[in-house]
Amino acid sequence: MTTEAPAALSPPTSFSISRYVIDLTTSSITWESVPCEDYEDALGGIARAFKLLGSVRVDDPYAPSSPLIMNLGLLTGTRVMTGLRTFFTGYSPLKMSLSGKPGPMWSTGSGHFGVKVRGLGIDEVVFTGRAPEPTLLRITPSNDPGGSGGPAEFEFLSAADLAGREVNDRIQDLHGRYPDAHFAVIGPAGEHYEDVRYAAIALSTDNQLKSGDAKPRFAGRGGFGGVLGSKNLFAIAADGPNPKVSGRGLKDVNKEINLGEGSARYRDLPEDRGGTWRTMKMMQEANSLPEFNFAPTGTEASVPLLRPSVEAGPFVVHAEGCYLCGIKCHKNVYDETSEGEAGRYRAKVDFEPITLLSSNLGIFDPGDGLDLIALSDEMGMDSISLGVTLGYAMEYNRRHPESPIAGGLSYGDVAAAADAIEAIASGELIELGQGSMRLALAMGETGYAMHSKGIEYPAYQPQTNPGYPWALAGGHMSMRTFFLLVIERETGLDYWVDAITNRGLLYLMDDITGLCKFSNLAAEHEAEALRIATALDIDADGLEALTHRTFLRGYAAERAQGFSAEDYSMPAESHEPAPGMTLPYFNTPEFFDELRRQVNAVFDERATEAGLMA
Ligand code: SF4
Repeated sequence: MTTEAPAALSPPTSFSISRYVIDLTTSSITWESVPCEDYEDALGGIARAFKLLGSVRVDDPYAPSSPLIMNLGLLTGTRVMTGLRTFFTGYSPLKMSLSGKPGPMWSTGSGHFGVKVRGLGIDEVVFTGRAPEPTLLRITPSNDPGGSGGPAEFEFLSAADLAGREVNDRIQDLHGRYPDAHFAVIGPAGEHYEDVRYAAIALSTDNQLKSGDAKPRFAGRGGFGGVLGSKNLFAIAADGPNPKVSGRGLKDVNKEINLGEGSARYRDLPEDRGGTWRTMKMMQEANSLPEFNFAPTGTEASVPLLRPSVEAGPFVVHAEGCYLCGIKCHKNVYDETSEGEAGRYRAKVDFEPITLLSSNLGIFDPGDGLDLIALSDEMGMDSISLGVTLGYAMEYNRRHPESPIAGGLSYGDVAAAADAIEAIASGELIELGQGSMRLALAMGETGYAMHSKGIEYPAYQPQTNPGYPWALAGGHMSMRTFFLLVIERETGLDYWVDAITNRGLLYLMDDITGLCKFSNLAAEHEAEALRIATALDIDADGLEALTHRTFLRGYAAERAQGFSAEDYSMPAESHEPAPGMTLPYFNTPEFFDELRRQVNAVFDERATEAGLMA
């Protein structure tokens, strides 16, 4: 890659950010242009959000006083491909310590909403309070952008007419009203936040608005749709122009993102199609695909769910994408018409939703899996937490046929699973809406509830990933250890301590800069992108150091909230060999105890040295 950075680079202290603080109880809005003190402030995303949250202690994430930070990374809204992320950071209603305290967390998504927020001149909005009625917040350019109110104007409009409606219906309705806007909305689950702890936030995409199909992206993990719901904020419309930005000098960076090694597994390659879906085949071949609540059968049962089987018909798969993204990771599935064309849209397939809402529930018909994915999306729920919680309930019922829960849900019963999903979203199946940790504690049977710190595992067997407990925001989004055993087959203690305390946490880099994780850009390329697009003086070492500091801020915030060494744990049965799995078995109780001792010691020492531990 050639260096085409601007001749004059600037330190972070020459940047300032445009921040709004909104009290929804009183509809009061304060704007300030905040000079940046450091790289955290200038880069944004979770780096700046965790700095802001550092001294904020929260007992109830749904309390009006609990802040929710919506912000962008510095690359969001630039012409660096995949610079599309919007972050929602605060205290999660799902993540919980053994002592009952909520944990700090974030969720993030792509789509086009963040670009529009950037176009409105906004870097960050801090929400507190609770609106007196269901509210749609419409943001438009200010008539007096140089005035004390800043570059944007906010209208608090009634959203009572959105109540009870499905996610896509809400977005299409809002699109009819504001054709140039993009949207962040909650669904029915977010409205019933007290009864559903894993409600998501949907972010609209161009494809969705153009086609009318249910194709948003989701900021799914941790229940931040419920936090928005608790603030009575049903929807945000970012109704302004796209930012005026240049792509000058970015050709090589964008080529690397679009066609490089890093993003290869998310693209459709000529001889190897699949996006994240292709992971299902890898896991199936390694006999480590979750089936029946993370108990792989070692059989061919899940083969009908693999992409080649689905494409054999009667379905058609199209690779589609977000705004200006050439990776096109969305593998959208349609019914096949009699002419062999794409007909009715069914669902977008990623590895985690199809696994956790199909094979992990003993469901092996692809049409059934597509229906459950679509239903979860339309209800506005995180499909990972939903699927794992349903799996726990089914396993509980298998073990306790004499005293079943949740109406007797059982493996393979698609109709009952669909009914349960609707009941959870409407607040009528509260025991399951609380997530797997609280459900398992209530049932007194925690050994097969597949979560750490209350955040359900993505579809990677826990036997293969002892790094799960240190993920700050879900195991496949914030700790890059979930794939290592399949690829590298290493089982030594030193290897895993290093994997968790060093390279695993670098996965947070994109959660700072605003790039999509699927760009999978190396630190030197990401620093290069920052220099060219924003003139920030930063190199790969600086970016990696910032990422380490940000992890430590999150870890220190967990400890300050009351997470103890014991909170970094895994369910007992994940330390036993999985029945059908042929990958090496190494995550024994003894191995994990020593790993935990060493990893916590490293993080405690680093956080103390950095002055971050209370
Ligand atoms: S890689 Fe996928 S999710 Fe990321 S920006 Fe591109 S299309 Fe969107």
